[in-house]
Amino acid sequence: MKIFSDYFFCKRFFLICLLIFPLFGCFRQSPRIIKPIAPKNVVLLICDGAGLSQISSAYFYKNNPVNYSRFKNIGLIHVNSSDQLITDSAASGTAFATGHKTYNTAIGVSDEKVDLENLVEIASQSGVNCGIVTTSSITHATPASFFAHVSSRYLEEEIAMQLADSEVDFFAGGGLNFFVNRSDNLNVIDKLISNGFCINTNALDEFKTIKKNDKQAYILAPDGMPKLTHGRGSFLEKATILGINFLHKGDNPFFIMSEGAQVDWAGHDNDSDYLVSEMIDFDNTIGSVLDFAELDGETLVIVTADHETGGFTLSGKKRVNSQGEIYEDYKEIEPTFSAKGHSATLIPIFAFGPGSQEFNGIYHNNEVFHKILKLTSWHSAN
Ligand code: MG
Ligand code: ZN
Repeated sequence: MKIFSDYFFCKRFFLICLLIFPLFGCFRQSPRIIKPIAPKNVVLLICDGAGLSQISSAYFYKNNPVNYSRFKNIGLIHVNSSDQLITDSAASGTAFATGHKTYNTAIGVSDEKVDLENLVEIASQSGVNCGIVTTSSITHATPASFFAHVSSRYLEEEIAMQLADSEVDFFAGGGLNFFVNRSDNLNVIDKLISNGFCINTNALDEFKTIKKNDKQAYILAPDGMPKLTHGRGSFLEKATILGINFLHKGDNPFFIMSEGAQVDWAGHDNDSDYLVSEMIDFDNTIGSVLDFAELDGETLVIVTADHETGGFTLSGKKRVNSQGEIYEDYKEIEPTFSAKGHSATLIPIFAFGPGSQEFNGIYHNNEVFHKILKLTSWHSAN
């Protein structure tokens, strides 16, 4: 018996050594410096007008889990423009798209009204397919910042013309009037077609019906897209995923900026029901994009806003007590607004995927551009 147990002891010891020695082998190796993996693709989701209270509203009014909770890397950005403490969407969009702070109403130009190279122009020179999606007109300030250069956001006919000549490969939004009902009587749809775009002005298509097309455009409303509550459906989520699939074909790298435009409009209207419905629609879009990015593993997803709108708060419901005094009931939320315009509050920024740690901390909105270029190494050919 003794011999047997010694035999088994020796055998067990031998097996343990076999398992442990390779581990010591690992420890003996010189420590490796782990470099962050460069993202191949970048999705930038901008919820126009969404400060922390707007995002918080999803946690109180959405019946399903909130997708913002899926981010581990979170920062805050200062969003002031170059000329004012409170930014508009043009200056903040230009900061994201070009890395430069500029004056309110500027689209892709500096304080001196000089053209600034944007992310779409730079990425496309590195062989990246580029797309833009929005629930506003495609010529509105936020999307325009990524492909146009004009001294004022209100030059939407000129912005439409510049889109036709841009490096954008896929776009979806509203704004048909700026292409066909123009003061110069030109038809910019014809120009888009002659520049290689396939265009649908009725509805989004299935990916399989457009995947062989070179460039694809959807212009689905005369001006802004309808409100979610007026029948827009899941346009933002579907157009964003359709764009990702279209731009990703052939395994090319892609960049897409997708905007939930109407949280801002609801803030200007001081309409909390409108705001919450648009916020939840944007959160659903985040969910589908993160589902894609989790499977893909090479896509950096950045979610932020250009500024807060309406001075929105989730305060306690005002009631009157038995002495006739007004008090705030902490058991019920009453969304309220303190402004009709934008505010100066810092804006949350969320990141997922390769390079997402880069977005932690507190910094300015124009740094987002520099962080994207640093991580991807996208650069101009010249
Ligand atoms: Mg916008
Ligand atoms: Zn606004």
